[in-house]
Amino acid sequence: MHHLTLDSPDTTIKLKLSEVTKAIYGSKKMVVLTGAGISCNAGIPDFRSAHGLYNANTSTTVKGKDLFDISLFRNEDTLQAFASFMETLYGHTTQAMPTETHKFIHHLKKHNKLLRCYTQNIDALERKLELHTGIIEAQTSNFRKHWKDLDVVQLHGDLHALSCTACFAHFDWSADLRVQLAAGEIPECPKCLENYHHKSAEGKRLSSLTVGMLRPTIVLYGENHPHSESISRGISMDIRSRPDCLVIFGTSLRVDGVKKLVKTMAKEIHDRNGKVIFVNKTSPSHAVWGDFIDYFIESDCDSWIRSLKQDYPDLFLTQLELDQLKLKKSKGKKKQMMLTPPPTPSTNKKFDVSIDPKSIKSNDKIKQLLGERASPEYSPIKTNRIIDLSDEELDVVKQELKKKNPLKQINGNKNSKRPTRPSSKVSKDLDKENQSPKRSSPKKQPVIKQRQNIAIIPKICL
Ligand SMILES: [Zn+2]
Repeated sequence: MHHLTLDSPDTTIKLKLSEVTKAIYGSKKMVVLTGAGISCNAGIPDFRSAHGLYNANTSTTVKGKDLFDISLFRNEDTLQAFASFMETLYGHTTQAMPTETHKFIHHLKKHNKLLRCYTQNIDALERKLELHTGIIEAQTSNFRKHWKDLDVVQLHGDLHALSCTACFAHFDWSADLRVQLAAGEIPECPKCLENYHHKSAEGKRLSSLTVGMLRPTIVLYGENHPHSESISRGISMDIRSRPDCLVIFGTSLRVDGVKKLVKTMAKEIHDRNGKVIFVNKTSPSHAVWGDFIDYFIESDCDSWIRSLKQDYPDLFLTQLELDQLKLKKSKGKKKQMMLTPPPTPSTNKKFDVSIDPKSIKSNDKIKQLLGERASPEYSPIKTNRIIDLSDEELDVVKQELKKKNPLKQINGNKNSKRPTRPSSKVSKDLDKENQSPKRSSPKKQPVIKQRQNIAIIPKICL
């Protein structure tokens, strides 16, 4: 497990951080696990700090994590503390807004990189980004399709719904219910009450009827998740889907179910050379997690996301923004091309003009074609360079070649023993064809290229 920090000047750490970015970039089926650490920047107070929710609770009977314990339902006083605490927490979540880390998960989905997000949070902030939450029964016929469409698995339930402890009917938080809960009263279930009054009016026995209480649909310590079977089946499906990266955000990794999930998922991901990345303010135990986590980034979750955004900006753009950026770049290139002045049209009629500007000296060009040393200023840099010749220059070349090799004819002599090269042949390597068979560097020799749109095509038969 590599321990990384964002601001370190250490080049090794910088290199490892770039490996993390590379893993995110290359992932196609990413699993994300989030904890309370990602919601602190959303405006929801943390639980354990001096000013956290646990210490803000005024109850003298219940403190700390006991506020999430099922044992609260055994006592009237503790039940009141639970009710008011839940209403306070709900109030915070309604005001909170998704953080950079929540948005990162949303971008993963938009870029088809998100296999699943598992969260320990009950604030449901992901829904504000239109990520799908909510689990159905494992036995449901379309469970497989439902799970595939599910973005976020709420491992500890959802604070944004209330359910009856007797009939399990679900209800939204209404203003009236909030007033009752804030006052420390647990509301009775409207559905159970209606049933009770209905049977009472019919004169039926009421002793066997129970009117349930409404409580948030969260999973308390000491109770099982109502959809544990669905979650188990879904996790198995995700593992079979071959996830290639796991990113864990803002959790202490102390809950047993979460520990098991991370270890199982990490093993599967490592089997196919994927990476496990953990972003948190506090370090995990190396003895416990050293074999499961590849990179521990000691950082606020949003700070790392902002760092990632600099290294991999495209991930944080929508498809529309990407298309617009592409279009803008394309227009910029066209504009640049238009601003670039076109080459000056050549007055020469017979040969292409694409040549080094230094070659404007006629003598140098002629010398070069004849295999002689040109002046130091003139030097065709690239091989097979096209040399531009005027009519006068061409005549000089012909005459010079004739002097050097009088037996050969120039310019399409009918008596020539060698056939005239077809005019459609675009280029001729004079050196190769002419008098320098011993020269060992044909690559450096210039090439005369005929312009194809000329009226009179000269023929050089050597
Ligand atoms: Zn009920």
